[in-house]
Order: sequence, then C-alpha cells, then structure tokens
Amino acid sequence: MNNQQFYIFLQKQILLLIALSLIPGLAYIFLGWLNDIVFPALVWYGLMVAVSLYGWYLYHWFKIEQMSTVRLKQWYLHLAVFFYIIFGLWTLIFLLYSTETEHHLHYIAIFTQIGASVVASTLLVSDKKLFLPVLLILLLPLIVYFSLIGEWYGYILSIFSTIFLGVLLYSSDNSYRLIQENYYQAQHDSLTGLYNRRYFVEYLEQLVNGLQYTGRFVYILLIDLDHFKTINDTLGHDLGDKVLIEVAARIRRYCERTHTIARLGGDEFTIVSSEFEHMAVCKESAENFSETLLQLIKAPYLIDGHHLYLSASIGINSIGHRTTNARHLIKETDIAMYEAKAKGRDGIIVFNEELAKRVEYHLEIERRLYFALEHREIELRYQPQVDKQQHVIGCEVLVRWNNPEFGFISPAEFIQIAEKTGLIIEMGNYIIEEAFKTLRYWYARGIVLEQYSINISVRQFFNSGFADDIERLVRTYLNTELVQKVVFEVTETIFIEDMYRILEAMKRLKSLGLSFSMDDFGTGYSSLSSLRELPISELKIDKLFVRRVGEYKSDELMITTILTMAKIFNLKTVAEGVENEEQFQFLLKHNCDYYQGYYFSKPLTKERFQHYYKNGQPHRMLKGISYDI
Ligand code: C2E
Ligand code: CA
Ligand code: CA
Repeated sequence: MNNQQFYIFLQKQILLLIALSLIPGLAYIFLGWLNDIVFPALVWYGLMVAVSLYGWYLYHWFKIEQMSTVRLKQWYLHLAVFFYIIFGLWTLIFLLYSTETEHHLHYIAIFTQIGASVVASTLLVSDKKLFLPVLLILLLPLIVYFSLIGEWYGYILSIFSTIFLGVLLYSSDNSYRLIQENYYQAQHDSLTGLYNRRYFVEYLEQLVNGLQYTGRFVYILLIDLDHFKTINDTLGHDLGDKVLIEVAARIRRYCERTHTIARLGGDEFTIVSSEFEHMAVCKESAENFSETLLQLIKAPYLIDGHHLYLSASIGINSIGHRTTNARHLIKETDIAMYEAKAKGRDGIIVFNEELAKRVEYHLEIERRLYFALEHREIELRYQPQVDKQQHVIGCEVLVRWNNPEFGFISPAEFIQIAEKTGLIIEMGNYIIEEAFKTLRYWYARGIVLEQYSINISVRQFFNSGFADDIERLVRTYLNTELVQKVVFEVTETIFIEDMYRILEAMKRLKSLGLSFSMDDFGTGYSSLSSLRELPISELKIDKLFVRRVGEYKSDELMITTILTMAKIFNLKTVAEGVENEEQFQFLLKHNCDYYQGYYFSKPLTKERFQHYYKNGQPHRMLKGISYDI
C-alpha cells in the first residue's frame, strides 16, 4: 500500500474515469430530452460535472514527491470517496431510466450498468477496497431490477447478472492478488523477506519529504556484519544464507512493529525508526536501540551444527527537517558505519560533520592521487641502512607525494587509498622503475650498496602481471650484479592471502635474482611455519618495538626473540626506527645485523644520499638537521 506506483496508477485512472463519464453522459441528456425527462437528466449531468471537478482537483493535488505519508493517506481517502460517488451516479441514472415506461430506455440503462461494471473492474483492479464496493453498487441494483420484472426471463437474467457479478469479482480478485504478489516481490528481498533496497530508498525518500512537512525526527541505522565473507568462504554460501536469514529474523522479532527494516544487499541491513517529536529523544533512542540490537546480533548462533559468533558494525544517523534526500542520508550513514569498521568493527558510530569532512578529504586525496603520477608529483627518498660499524650498506626506498595544494602527503596516508582504488599497480611500477634508475645511476658513480630495499604492497604482488612487469624492468635497467641487491619488502598481510599464489610469484621473482624481506615483523599474522615456507631472507623489526626499548621489557623481549629466531632460520635482521644511542646499543648487544632510523639519517633525496654515502658517518653531523621533507 505504500508503493508509489500503486498511487500513481490510481491517479491515472481519475482522468480516464472523468472522460468515460462526461462524454457518454451527454447521450443521457439527449435521451432525456427525447423522453421528456430532460430535467432530471440535466441535474444528473450537473452532479457528474461536479464530481469530475472534484476528481480533477484530486488529480492535481497528488504530488508524490512532496507528500507526507499522512497527506497521502488523506488523499487516498478522498480518492475512494470520488470513485464511490462517480459509480454511484451511474447507478443513479440507471435507477432513473429503468423506472421509466419506455422500454428502450431500459435497454440503454442495463447496458450502461454492465459497461460501468466492466470499466470498474479493470480500472480499479489494483485496489480491492475500491473495486469490491463499486461492483456491488453497480450490479446489485441490476440483479434486483431483473428479478422485479416478475417474468421467467427476468429471473433468468437476475441469475445471469449474479453470475456475472461473481465472475467479475473473482477475476478482479485474481488479478488483484497477482498485482499484490508482484508488488510484494518488487518490494522484498527474496532471501530474508525484508524490504529490499529499491523499496527502502523509495520509502525513505517519502519519509524525508514528510519530515520536512511535520517537523518530526527519525533515526536510521546501517548494519553491516563483520567478517561475513569468511563465513561464506569457509562454510559455504548455503550456510551464509542461513545466517542472514537468522540475523534478519532476530532484527524482525526485535523491532518489526516499531521500525521499517530492509536488507540493502549482501550482509548489509538498514532500519528506520518511527517518528519522534524531539531531536534529543530521537538521538538517545537511536543509541540505546543500537546497543541492544548489537547484543542481539552477537548472541551465539547454532546453524547446521555450527556454533557461530557474529558481530556487526553499525552507523547511526538522525533525520530532521534539514533539506536532504534519501541517497544522501544513506551515504552519510554509510560513512558512520565504515568508521565503525575502521575502528576495529563490532561497534556503533554516530554520523557527524567532522566525520563527513574527513571522508571528503579522503575522497579529495583519492581524486588528486589519480593525477599525481601524470603531474610528476610522486618522488622518492632513500633512507640509509647501516651496519654495526655504522657504515652505509644500503637503503630503503620510500615514496613521497608532493602535492601543490596539500604539500607533502605521507605514504601512510595515500598508499592505502592507492591500494583501494587499484592505482597502486601503476604507481608501484613507477616507483620500482624510478628506484631501479637510481640504483643504476649510483652504480655508475661508484656508489656500491650491499642491498637496496623497495616496499611492495600485497595488492601489487597479486596483480597477475606483476612478475612480468618486474622482469621487464630488471632487463631494462639492471645487470646481474645489481639485481642481486634488490630486496622487496613485503608485509605480513600476504599471509592472509592465497599462499600457493604467493609462493609461485615469489619463486619466479627470486629466480630473477631478487630477495625478500619481511617488513614490520611481529605486528601481524605471520607464523613460524609460513616463514619457513616462503623464500624470505631478511626480517625487519618494526619501529613499534624499537621505540620502546628501555621502557617496556615486553618490547625488548620481542626484539631479542625475533633476533634469536632469525639466527636459527639464518635470516638477516634490520631494525627500523632507531632514534637514539640507547636503542642502537641494545640492538647491537643482541647482534642485530643492520640499522635504520633517524639516529643515523632521515630519508634523503638522491643527491643527499650520495653526499651522505660519500662523507659517511658520523651521524652527529646530521643531528638536528631534517633532511627528509
Ligand atoms: P615502513 O615500510 O615501515 O617504512 C618505514 C617508515 O618509518 C617510513 O615512513 C620512515 O620514514 C619511517 N622512519 C624511518 N626511520 C624512523 C625513525 O627513526 N623514527 C620514526 N618515527 N619513523 C622512522 P614513511 O616513509 O612515512 O612510510 C610509511 C609507510 O608507507 C612505510 O612503512 C611503507 O609501509 C609505506 N611505503 C612507503 N613507501 C612505499 C612504497 O614505495 N611502496 C609501498 N607499497 N609502500 C610504501
Ligand atoms: Ca618498509
Ligand atoms: Ca616497517
């Protein structure tokens, strides 16, 4: 009943019905004139004109985008009255003509009534509340009329008309059901039986319009299940579907009476509350409601013998009479929901402007990043790595984005975005190419490094053309001696991916002469056994641990453990983020191979690195000077 199409369909019938009444109505005036009943006929026609004007008014009153649900209901009531009256008027003329003595008038009256019934059953088929009474208004008098003739054929006609009424009711009802079923399917999600996205957006649009009119408030929730993909991947889609059905059922049981619930797709649900008088109450209810809902979703599931534990990330948004539209609201709520995901999932975040600004900034970065390569805004820096005697033995290549508007943007900020958009492939290739060029350039100038590290993101690694691209670049820029120096730094996130594919890619790259280093070791997921399986020759101790040397025993223990383990597996060790003498001494004592950090040098430009290499240490010369951007 809330469906826009339904109302639009009814609205269309108004004009048709007016035309079907006013034009044949003229014939009745003519007949009235011929048979000396012109005055009643004129009065009847006058009534018909009046009702048509009413219909005309209703036709123009209807503006679905601007009508609140309350107003729409009012309009519908008026419309029903209009239909009842206009068909009632047809019965009136029937009664008038069928009581005349002239028999030909009777034939016309009878035909009119039958015609009107057919028209009613087709025009009003979408609404049982309309066609049922109207058909009765039209055909019952006809049935009575026939039976009052008092002759045998009258009774037969009376029976026929009853059957005719039955057939019309039956067929209208059938079509009505079919339409209802179609409506239902168009509005509902077939898996969970909740409303679907299409309906929901339409509903929300309507609601937002109404709120502008009533000045009330509602809240909207966007719920996304955490790690649902894992359930699908590990236990199969059938079980995944069952989980979704159960989640939907829980939400339904909890709030079906008071809220409108929809499944937007996948594992994403949305809920809209009923209306509130005050914003503060609305906001408070939203938070309480989501807290309880989250607990409900988190209660353990037992599905097909599997005990499952789910959580969800929920975004909340409130709507008042600010001018907005449904899509925008959903987008805002989506932002809040994503923030909940980013904050570690299993949580609730209320949308606010600051959040929107941050997302806007991210999008802006995303847009600009797209042109960064083309505009030559991507630059490289080289951070020296030193050995125990503090001699430069290599460096790590670090990317910098120099944007004319935003200034220098940290890779910590934009690499993730580049990964998300897929831009990392092109950018990664560019970085590797530039890095290779530098390596060759230095080599030609007598800067001979032991190793040369380049960061590679997982996304790059899994691009099918990656190994080919690298092979091409190696052939273009490096000789066999230089390629041996290249180390690709990968993070532990590769362990989450398909191990077989990683191994294949790594083997191929290794056959070119490259080697691998495990970056940020100890912060992620790697297991000892996977370390043994992969052709890794170096571990990088993350700056997170190094930073707290001298402060936390647990971090020191972590470092010594990593160093011991590396020795057992025969891996080189590099400590990054070394910032002071104490950290350096600690690492030195525990036999770390190489060191990298501000204590020795910040990341440098190509020229400054050359200078640093040539003049060597001591680092004291560099203290306090920020070579990095
Ligand atoms: P990462 O691989 O862990 O790189 C080390 C980061 O620590 C660098 O930050 C470096 O400037 C910083 N750093 C070095 N020494 C010190 C120190 O003594 N103290 C402190 N506090 N920090 C130090 P940066 O350059 O901002 O890079 C951040 C991250 O961005 C890198 O972390 C790496 O994951 C990523 N990244 C950088 N360049 C590239 C690249 O070319 N490709 C890819 N895929 N990722 C890159
Ligand atoms: Ca690194
Ligand atoms: Ca690191």
